[in-house]
Amino acid sequence: MRLDPIFDFPPAPCVAIEGREQVFPVRRVFCVGRNYAAHAAEMGNEVDREAPFYFTKSAHAVIPSGSDIVYPPGTQDCHHEMEFVIAIGADAFEISENRALDVVYGYACGIDLTRRDLQAVAKAGRRPWDLGKDFENAAIMGAITPAAEFGAVGAQAIWLDRDGARVQDATLAEMVWSVPEIIAHLSRFYHLAAGDLIYTGTPAGVGPVSPGSVLTGGIDGLSPVTLTIKT
Ligand code: MN
Repeated sequence: MRLDPIFDFPPAPCVAIEGREQVFPVRRVFCVGRNYAAHAAEMGNEVDREAPFYFTKSAHAVIPSGSDIVYPPGTQDCHHEMEFVIAIGADAFEISENRALDVVYGYACGIDLTRRDLQAVAKAGRRPWDLGKDFENAAIMGAITPAAEFGAVGAQAIWLDRDGARVQDATLAEMVWSVPEIIAHLSRFYHLAAGDLIYTGTPAGVGPVSPGSVLTGGIDGLSPVTLTIKT
């Protein structure tokens, strides 16, 4: 006997695909920590090449580029983190670095919104980062460009303008862990599958947003990501 759910399960958030009349349904959101040395340094950390580390966000934290959101609750120090996002399009478990790009559907611009004050409290108390990282509207996604149309990940510029001033400005060549290294490593711990997103970390220049802030982020070859914080 099939039991009926007591309420309609919310549909998976979907991300636009550049040039397609289709969308990418989101399954899970993984995020890499400290993947740019200059950002790690500005946060008072050193990067290590021992292994990447991760945190996650709920798929329901994903909102589209162009959104207009209220300032997030419970924080006095909400920060923008501009990121290069990998969209996984096929199963990957214990995949090799050599095969890792085969499971990439495409790439996108994303913003990892962070309640920095709550993250700092969590770090100091050796507690999980969830309150600082996983909250409503905390994963902003630009449209996904299929990997074949983007080409090889190299020294593409990655930047973010806050209220018209450039505050984050780097290249993808500065990533400590490459796309194949991240996918291969993460796939040792999860059965990655179509619908998974991986935010690959932020360059230096993170900073606070406030009511009225307008964020515009870009990566060469990708559709931009924008976000407005309501006044
Ligand atoms: Mn981040």
